[in-house]
Amino acid sequence: MNNNQPNRVPQRGASKPNPTRTYSQTKRPTRSKSEIARRVFLAKCILVAGMLLVLGGVVFLLCRSGIFSKKTASPTEVVLSSLTNATVDPSDTTAPAVTETTPTETTLPDDLTGYYVILDPGHGGYDRGCGYPINSSEIEEETVVLKMANFMAEDLRSRGATVYMTRETNDYVSLYNRIAQAHLICLDIAEKEGTLPFSSDRAQELRGKLQKSVDINDDSLSSGGMGIMVGSGVGPDLLDLFKMEHEMDHVIFIALHLNADYDDAAHRGCESYYVTDDSIIAYEKRQMNTADYQSPDFPIRDEYHGRDNEQNAKLAQMMYDYFVGEFPDMRSPMNVPVDSSGWAVIREVGLSGVLFEAGFLSDPTDRAFLGDDTKLQQTAVSLGDAIEAYFKEVSGS
Ligand SMILES: [Zn+2]
Repeated sequence: MNNNQPNRVPQRGASKPNPTRTYSQTKRPTRSKSEIARRVFLAKCILVAGMLLVLGGVVFLLCRSGIFSKKTASPTEVVLSSLTNATVDPSDTTAPAVTETTPTETTLPDDLTGYYVILDPGHGGYDRGCGYPINSSEIEEETVVLKMANFMAEDLRSRGATVYMTRETNDYVSLYNRIAQAHLICLDIAEKEGTLPFSSDRAQELRGKLQKSVDINDDSLSSGGMGIMVGSGVGPDLLDLFKMEHEMDHVIFIALHLNADYDDAAHRGCESYYVTDDSIIAYEKRQMNTADYQSPDFPIRDEYHGRDNEQNAKLAQMMYDYFVGEFPDMRSPMNVPVDSSGWAVIREVGLSGVLFEAGFLSDPTDRAFLGDDTKLQQTAVSLGDAIEAYFKEVSGS
């Protein structure tokens, strides 16, 4: 213990030393009552403003969260959700039906993708077909059917179909050139799709023979323009092509023509022709007595068989029905406006085919229709609808 330490026990009752203060000890000023009231009022104002700010923020956040929006989505929102969400429940009936054209519809695959249409606008060049007035060029078949074919090609391509045309200008193309073109197109399609019923070498041999009819481009019998199509019935070359084409339900041949009858004013409106085995045989037998058929260069061979008669009739009927359904004025007054026939251009090709006579240039009503490009364009759409419906029926889709 250190006795030298002074006794530091504080004495009771002694005052504590006053600590040193560094801040001002100045006396607080006395405030007046009015000053106090003003400050209290100011504080209340600040408090109320703060509460309003907090309340506004809460309302804003709730609005952003969508809690106050309608539960039913707008059509636009439905479309957007269908584009961005592949798992939209199709059974959700709370969503309104979308009736307008939507982007979703345009992204669907084309209906006629994988189908082929060979369009054959009749006549061309010096062969003008029928016209009005007789032997005049005020309006001519070759020009009108080419317009129709171009409108049809545009419409069918927009549906996804592959379209071929036997002529694209008003230059002359012979009858057997057109038929040979159709066979060549079928050979190309079958080879591309791997469905040739014979070897590639045989296909090449047939191509060579058909190409002659294209190159000669002449209808006269003596020129050999008929090529493998010469004679009645079918030879071995045509038989091979028919066997291939009878199986090609996804390819059709459409010949486009107009009519004229200056002897019978009642003869007017649309006619649609197809061929069957029986109609071809009947035609051949009628022809047997003509000079051409008695030529030694004109072989008489086996009759035609194996065509799908019902499909041919169906296509011709559908084209007529869709057309006159859209344009009742073009309905034919004839008892059988859709009929079997022996027209060479559909007889010598094994595809389902139609020779479509849209109307009579000799009739004023028909002529006004056929001279109107807008009507021709609308005709192409109605025939496109018929062709699309036909392919769907044949394919069972
Ligand atoms: Zn014609």
